[in-house]
Amino acid sequence: MCAAMSTPPAPHRPLPQPEDLWPRTLETTRNALATGALQPIATECQTLEEREVPFQVRVLGRAHLKDDRAKREKPRAAPFNPFENPDPVMVVGDVPPAHTCMLNKFNVVEHHLLLVTRIFEEQESPLTAADFEALAFCMSGLDGLAFYNSGEMAGASQRHKHLQLIPPLGPQGLRAPMETLLSAPPARGHVTTVPALNFLHVLTGLGPWESSAGRDGARLFEAYQSLRATLGMEHALPPYNLLATRDWMLLVPRSCAETHGINVNAMGFAGSLLVKTPEQFQKLQELGPLELLRQVTPPARPTASSESEV
Ligand code: AMP
Repeated sequence: MCAAMSTPPAPHRPLPQPEDLWPRTLETTRNALATGALQPIATECQTLEEREVPFQVRVLGRAHLKDDRAKREKPRAAPFNPFENPDPVMVVGDVPPAHTCMLNKFNVVEHHLLLVTRIFEEQESPLTAADFEALAFCMSGLDGLAFYNSGEMAGASQRHKHLQLIPPLGPQGLRAPMETLLSAPPARGHVTTVPALNFLHVLTGLGPWESSAGRDGARLFEAYQSLRATLGMEHALPPYNLLATRDWMLLVPRSCAETHGINVNAMGFAGSLLVKTPEQFQKLQELGPLELLRQVTPPARPTASSESEV
């Protein structure tokens, strides 16, 4: 299947400038909704506040659960790679140096973008300078939340490498609810932890955003390498979630995909969770979102100091 693919796919309409990303996203969304290619998932959003983080919890409707079951029961002839040859109506544009930006077909939040490698790469392979250059290009066009689910255990549902970018989740312009705890990120080159977060994680600051895909991409790549080095993940890469804005980057290693039947991906660590039923919502309320997040991460290691320079 996808791994055997060696010839580059046909190019799509390029995105000449980062400023083209948002108008093109709106235009593509309109067209993809009109053709039925884009199939948003309806949820009801509730807020659960813990340690000043206004966690957003989206609860799936019963109708969706039925649909989901019907889809799962369909026999599948062969594994399908939705990013190998994306439906042109879903494509926002090609992004230099080697990616395609497209809409997430089953989006829970509006204008959910996927940044997929044009040539197949494994989702579990390390992120590269090229991945971060393409991401920086898109982040210059949309000052939102970028994230990456490395491996199934981290919430990935597709093997083909894909980064994700969404508009600010809020509230009040925050790119993620968790930003209430991350709002003064460390200086560039410094790695720290946030005392209020009870799960294993490392955070670094990126310094001022320059709106240059080359320079911002290089700083994102440098930050990624610092975070990995701090956790001893330079060589072997266990499952992890990565989250980034123009100001900070957070890395969270993972120990399991779900707890109490609730699946967690990178958005969970941004302060946005998805549950399937009201019963799961009640369980989450009993546990508290931070305890849920702790249960899907490896035990936190005691640290001598909360900040280090890398
Ligand atoms: P993840 O589940 O984090 O690996 O992200 C992959 C995303 O791809 C999921 O959120 C799906 O909604 C989305 N997806 C699945 N099939 C397609 C498709 N044919 N076109 C676009 N997006 C898709």
